Amino acid sequence: MPNTAPKEDIAANRDRILSDIASAADHPVELIAVSKVQPDERLQAALDAGHLVFGENKVQEAQAHWAARRGIEGLKLHLIGPLQSNKSEDAVALFDVIQTIDRKKIVRTISEAAEKLDRFPDLFIQVNTGEEAQKSGVMPDDVEDLVAYTRETYPGKLVGLMCIPPVDEPAAPHFALLKKMADGLGLESVSMGMSADYELGVQLGATHVRVGSAFFGERQPA
Ligand SMILES: *Cc1c(COP(=O)(O)O)cnc(C)c1O
Repeated sequence: MPNTAPKEDIAANRDRILSDIASAADHPVELIAVSKVQPDERLQAALDAGHLVFGENKVQEAQAHWAARRGIEGLKLHLIGPLQSNKSEDAVALFDVIQTIDRKKIVRTISEAAEKLDRFPDLFIQVNTGEEAQKSGVMPDDVEDLVAYTRETYPGKLVGLMCIPPVDEPAAPHFALLKKMADGLGLESVSMGMSADYELGVQLGATHVRVGSAFFGERQPA
């Protein structure tokens, strides 16, 4: 793998991923280009190719990547990494969507920040479908309670569920479980599938896929 991804490569990667998605499903799917740990010229190449939807893992890095570009018409930013409550206000100020809600405390701090800034990002609840000790996300048994709490208290919209399956297990059962939970709870959006398995995610009902290296090339620091 070469360490540079010229502009044409990113445009071609994007076209290929969009066409894979279109072949895998007939429902609308949002392709989130995960720009964490990518140099600025690649972000610019994606924008030049007409891409406007991006995902970031860390609030601070996202500010460095996007704060100066926040005025771009149609730009949509998803937070897909774990959120500390003391970063809630920064997250609400920058992101359009926060996918990593996993506890009541974070619902409270996000709600406070949203009221204060009069900005109401859409929320996803992250589900720890593999019930892994180290992983963030709410355990499957506790999803229903957190969904109810978020619906009752957050002044914006709860739109869906998100998961990151365990690396050492087939993803399909996790994707199927997440989709089933979302349907049962009346949530329209399902964020699942990354570079290695976005087509599978889409076949199993993903409405959002989060694709980093297949879109931008291997991650390398700016
Ligand atoms: C980094 C990351 C991705 C993208 O990973 P790739 O394998 O490079 O596509 C997707 N989702 C989350 C939550 C991530 O942290």
